[in-house]
Order: sequence, then C-alpha cells, then structure tokens
Amino acid sequence: MISTPLRYLWAALIALVLLLSGVVAISAAAEQPAGRYVFPVQPPDVARFAPEHHDYPATDIFAPVGTLFVAPTDGVVEFISREDAWNPQTDDPVMRGGLAVSMVGDDGVRYYGSHLSEVAAGLAVGMRVRAGQPLGRIGQSGNARGTPSHLHFGISHPTFPDDWLVRRGEVSPYPYLQAWLKGEMRTPELPYRSCAASGAMSAPNCEVFGYSVQGRPLEVYRFGNGPVKIALIGAIHGGYEWNSAALMHRLMAHLLANPTLVFTQTTLYVVPVLNPDGLARSGGPDGRFNGNMVDINRNWGCLWQARAEWKGRAVNPGAQPFSEPETQALRDFLLNGRFRVAVFYHSAGGMVTAGARCGGGDASRAFSHAIARVTGYMSMRFPQSDVTGEAADWFASQGIPAVAIELSTHTGLDWTQNLKALRAIQQVAIENAPNPSVPEAPTIPIPSLPYPLIWRWAEGL
Ligand SMILES: [Zn+2]
Repeated sequence: MISTPLRYLWAALIALVLLLSGVVAISAAAEQPAGRYVFPVQPPDVARFAPEHHDYPATDIFAPVGTLFVAPTDGVVEFISREDAWNPQTDDPVMRGGLAVSMVGDDGVRYYGSHLSEVAAGLAVGMRVRAGQPLGRIGQSGNARGTPSHLHFGISHPTFPDDWLVRRGEVSPYPYLQAWLKGEMRTPELPYRSCAASGAMSAPNCEVFGYSVQGRPLEVYRFGNGPVKIALIGAIHGGYEWNSAALMHRLMAHLLANPTLVFTQTTLYVVPVLNPDGLARSGGPDGRFNGNMVDINRNWGCLWQARAEWKGRAVNPGAQPFSEPETQALRDFLLNGRFRVAVFYHSAGGMVTAGARCGGGDASRAFSHAIARVTGYMSMRFPQSDVTGEAADWFASQGIPAVAIELSTHTGLDWTQNLKALRAIQQVAIENAPNPSVPEAPTIPIPSLPYPLIWRWAEGL
C-alpha cells in the first residue's frame, strides 16, 4: 500500500498531467484542424469542370494557360516531370501527362496535376508544401497538345512515380472539388489505403496493388532506385508454402539493414504474399488455395485447362484464365510496370524451374541456370502436361523471363542460397536489357526425368 501523503502527491501529479495534456490537446486542435483544403486552381472563378471524365475517375479542370495549380492541402512533393516527352506516334501512357507534379497530402492521399505549362520555380521532390502553395501553371503539355488548356487532376493512394494507371486517378475528385470551392474541409475517401506498415517500409516504398478474394491487401515493397525492375513473389500457394513468405519477410528486413545489396541499376519489388487468404486459412494442403478455393498457380493464361492437377489430384484452376483477383492484379502490376524479370518462391522441391512452355523459354532457362549455379538447386523443367496455367510460364511468354524457385523443405528458408541468388537475379536482370535485334541464346538441353520422381521433387509447384 502507498502511504497517505504519497497518495495525495500521486493524485496531484496525475491531475497536473491530465490538465496539461488536456491543454496541449486543445491548443493542438486549434492550430491544426484536421485537413485544410483549397481548390487546386487559383483563382477558382476562371475554372470550369464537369462531373464526368472519359473512362476512369479524374477531373479535367479547364482554365486559361498560365492559371495557377496549387497544393490542395498540406503535404510533400512526391514526383515532378519537368519535360514534355510525349510522342503522339508511340503514345506512351507514362508520358501522357507532360509536365506534371504530384504530392502526398498529410491526409495520406496522392494528388496529381498534369498538362502543365510550367512547374513552380524551386519546387523539388521531398519538399514540404502548404495548402494553396503554387505547384505550377496550367497548360497543354503531354497528350493535351492541341486541346483546350486544362489541369488533369487525379486523386489516388500513394504509388510509385511511373505507375500511371494509379496516379492518373482512382476516385472522382468532383465531389471534393465542389466541397473545397464552398470552403468545406472534406478529405477524399480512397477505395483502400496504402500499406499500413510503418517507418521505413511505409509509402512510397510500399503499395497495395490489389485485393484478394476475401479483401486482404496485396502489398508490394520496393527497395532501390535503379531502372531495372525485378519482381520477387512469395506464397502464391499461401499457407501450404508459408516459408516462401517467411523468406520474403526476412529478405526485406535484411535489405532495409543492408541497402547496398540492391545494385544501383536495379529496383527490387517484393510481394511477400500473393495469396494471403490461403496463408490465413491453413498451413496444410488446403492453405494452398485462395478465397475461392482456386489454385492461383493454375489460373494463368498459358496452357490453362479447366481440369487441373496437383500431385495427381484435381485442383480448381478457376472458371477461366485470370478469373481470380490475385492473378489479375499481379499480371497488371508487372506488365504495366515493365518488369525485367520475375521470380516466384515455392516449396518444397529444392530446385529452380524456368517458365518456358508458351514462349520466352531461352531467356528463362538461362535465368534458371544462373540461379542454379549459385544456389546448388537443380535447374529443371516439367513435362508438357504436368502443370497448367502456371505463372512463370505465362510471364515468360509476355517477355518477362521468369522462374520458380522451390525451397528445399516446407519449413526452412535456404537463407544462404537465396542471398546468393539475389545477386544472380540482379545480374541476369541487368544483362537482360530488351533488344529485339539480339537473338536468344541457344537452348541448353535439360534431361527429362521420370514423372513420379519429378513430382516428388516438385510437390509444391
Ligand atoms: Zn507452390
């Protein structure tokens, strides 16, 4: 028991702390109201805009060339395009915005304005801006060339600078623009927030690129800043191959602590769990399937069949190729992002296989051999009919050399081997610069092994 005088002292101290914290809370609330918003075109009376936009959510705010584009709220400048590199012949979607600025508000929302005639002098990525601060001037750059001058205004979750599909807009700004015109402080509501991860792993180094059947976010974490984009994908088979997700998490922690492991030319994008529903369900065989009980490594558009198998038993490949949200999301993320190579992590075959059966096989096999050399995994391929609708096969056919690495067991990480593999993966990705005039390397023959033996090694794929 505490003696009476001490109890009074404690009571007084607690009262004082409560009083002080109350005062602090009140003054903080008075200084910083939750979200301050201004109309992004100033002065607003020269602006005209409609509720509709052509085929995705965004708003074109029409105003004379030279009208100010200002920060709609307090935040940090995240991306600046100072050059108009749009070419109508190629119509590269990454270049369509011309001169553009995006910022991430303190509300966690990304705001993007494009077709500018100029970017505000002195503006830099990482710079803090206040609501109403000029970001640039309205113009006709990018694919607005020859159209009435306007600001293309997009609202989205924070994403990577060249993710044009997201940055152009994912919710309609119209109701918010109307509210801000009237002086209402209304925060945009996004379909989902960016990764909840904290600290160094938060946006813009983490993005949610889709959702699973049961609504779990599909997250990708970015390491490095080089132009060569590499995708590392864990747990396509969910809980049954949970150690592939564990390997991805350990790898991410290791990369955070050792950023020089990422080559200057490369950027690693790690998807720790492509099948979070399966991971949440079970660590046994039925943890392999997604929320629709589909095997999402039988759902891709290469040799897809309505009757799919795994270890001789029937598994659900989905109603058609890409019927599942997880396969759709990864397909779009890697193709839109122009990835150079992709690696899928499985268990437990202790080998590496090349996506090869729908084209692109030579590059994938060379990739597989490079990984096999440093890890000691066997570089193998499957007989034609074993695995249908497989992810690495499909990405290889799309010009993204891809392999599946099978960890040796269902529990271990094969840590040393996979750290070595990381170097080989980056080397291959850099050497694999796209140049259609260079013929593919000659096929290296791999002996085919008897079917049951392959299944024993490859039980996870
Ligand atoms: Zn697998």
